[in-house]
Amino acid sequence: MIPPKRYKATVVFNKELSSKVYVCRFRVDDDFSYSAGQYGSFILEPTVRRNLSFATPPNGKEFEICADVTPMGPISTWLVGAKPGDTIEFIGPLGKFIVDHESPRKKIFIATGTGIGPVRSQVLDEIRSSKYEQFWLYWGLRFEDDVFWDDEFRGLTASNPHFHYTLTLSKPTIAWKGVDGRVTDHLFDQKEQLSNFDFYLCGSREMVNDVTNRLLEKNVQKEQIKTELFY
Ligand SMILES: Cc1cc2nc3c(=O)[nH]c(=O)nc-3n(C[C@H](O)[C@H](O)[C@H](O)COP(=O)(O)OP(=O)(O)OC[C@H]3O[C@@H](n4cnc5c(N)ncnc54)[C@H](O)[C@@H]3O)c2cc1C
Repeated sequence: MIPPKRYKATVVFNKELSSKVYVCRFRVDDDFSYSAGQYGSFILEPTVRRNLSFATPPNGKEFEICADVTPMGPISTWLVGAKPGDTIEFIGPLGKFIVDHESPRKKIFIATGTGIGPVRSQVLDEIRSSKYEQFWLYWGLRFEDDVFWDDEFRGLTASNPHFHYTLTLSKPTIAWKGVDGRVTDHLFDQKEQLSNFDFYLCGSREMVNDVTNRLLEKNVQKEQIKTELFY
């Protein structure tokens, strides 16, 4: 793994993806790399740091993050006001939420909310490594207004038939024509034995704990489940 260091990142663009979520692209002038799924610890003041995951696969000098700004603490406030050219320091890469490429098992990625950030990095990394092994992404949001990046993932399924994607809303209006319910409702519909897969879970504590417990009940081993808890 690449040892963490302190870097300066410059905002390339910053965009509202939904009423709660911003995507911000940064450029780092030093040599910088990471593994898909890792995060940075962003420094707002000497004693104030907040974690944000890299939402793009390792790509030379630039990366994106996607952040839920509803907490409106120091990092949310900074992001809402961030403009191209603004700078922030971070320590990274950090974390062990990394795909096990040595494993012979197929992969299932599961995210809720902005937990999609590191999972998007992993999914895009899987696709560009052009293995034709099938893999699955289940993503849970609440409302129609929360939806972002759905077109991107749908587009990827069209050009990569080995990639399977389900977006599910837990609180849609009656007008919603897509899949509804929680990610767990659909994950456990998989026809194949769940013990044949590795699982990558990221997002809310509730989802991560619920899915982990249910997988363990289905004889999936602990080492087949990697998790990143956001909140
Ligand atoms: C390893 C790791 C990676 C992470 N990566 C991301 C990421 O890529 N994108 C992302 O959106 N988040 C991510 N998070 C979560 C993010 O770090 C926190 O939400 C962060 O605390 C928000 O910082 P803030 O300064 O805006 O608010 P804070 O000052 O930390 O919190 C303000 C208030 O909001 C509450 N709060 C904090 N976070 C949440 C939340 N998510 N939901 C509801 N209430 C909250 C706090 O308890 C506090 O009362 C990650 C967390 C971890 C541990």
